[in-house]
Amino acid sequence: MIRLAVVSGKGGTGKTMMAAALADISAVPQVLVDCDVDAANLELLFKPRRLTTEEFRGLEAARIDPERCRDCGICADHCRFGAIVRRDDAWTVDLLHCEDCGVCAYVCPMGAVRLEPRVCGEISTSATGRGNLAHARLFPGSGNSGLLVTEVKKRAMNLAGDADLLLADGPPGIGCPLIATVSGMDAVLIVTEPGVSALHDLGRLVTVCRRFGVRIFVAINRFDLAEDICERIEDYCGKEGLTVVGKIPFDPGVIEAVRNGRPVTRRDSPAAGALRTLRDTLFAELGLR
Ligand code: SF4
Ligand code: SF4
Repeated sequence: MIRLAVVSGKGGTGKTMMAAALADISAVPQVLVDCDVDAANLELLFKPRRLTTEEFRGLEAARIDPERCRDCGICADHCRFGAIVRRDDAWTVDLLHCEDCGVCAYVCPMGAVRLEPRVCGEISTSATGRGNLAHARLFPGSGNSGLLVTEVKKRAMNLAGDADLLLADGPPGIGCPLIATVSGMDAVLIVTEPGVSALHDLGRLVTVCRRFGVRIFVAINRFDLAEDICERIEDYCGKEGLTVVGKIPFDPGVIEAVRNGRPVTRRDSPAAGALRTLRDTLFAELGLR
């Protein structure tokens, strides 16, 4: 099985549009995974049937036992994040600010503070018309999205069966969720667009991806909006030995598809045609038929 992640240096480049299009027009048995757990959108585009949902517990959070608390305020004095607050005449932990450092439990003379695992989100598996999908949702204010990405990838592997392709919609940027996504992949498709900052982001993303020994392919979205910068991106890719597998034109049909919550490849349009060509080139490179 080939494991492929679609990633981008920043949000708004058309990464999810491209991942959904590839999933939609791929002719090989596949399993899908949405690793963009802070803004998971594949589910919205494929409107799948939910199979399972389970809680995701991330790091621990502090909790004060009111029966033991003697109201001394030592924990609040030592919490550097201002997470221990006074509510209803008692000390309590504001989970939005708690950074799970454990200092309050350490300093409390009454042993009234315990660190307990907290539910940070949920992980689901669903059946789409284009293969099974593992996806997740991180609750607002919860951290640890890298760990959640790792967990959702495990669910996808469990669903993979005889699939020839594991296709991941990755997170934007180069942080912990991206690293969790790229780890263990065979290849990444980096989606970029013709802009000076996008070129800079592309360079940073390539540097990170190279550390994982994955094959790197590049797609340039809306390439015709600034053809001079598009040429600079292609020059950069040439110097770095990266294959540009496709250039997608600006196309109002993409905006219409996103508005209607469907993959752009469901209707004929210039972008849909370019995406089919991209799929052929990329899948040939990956040995997928
Ligand atoms: S340090 Fe312990 S006893 Fe003192 S206010 Fe905090 S929880 Fe209560
Ligand atoms: S665990 Fe750390 S951040 Fe959270 S309430 Fe205790 S001292 Fe504050």
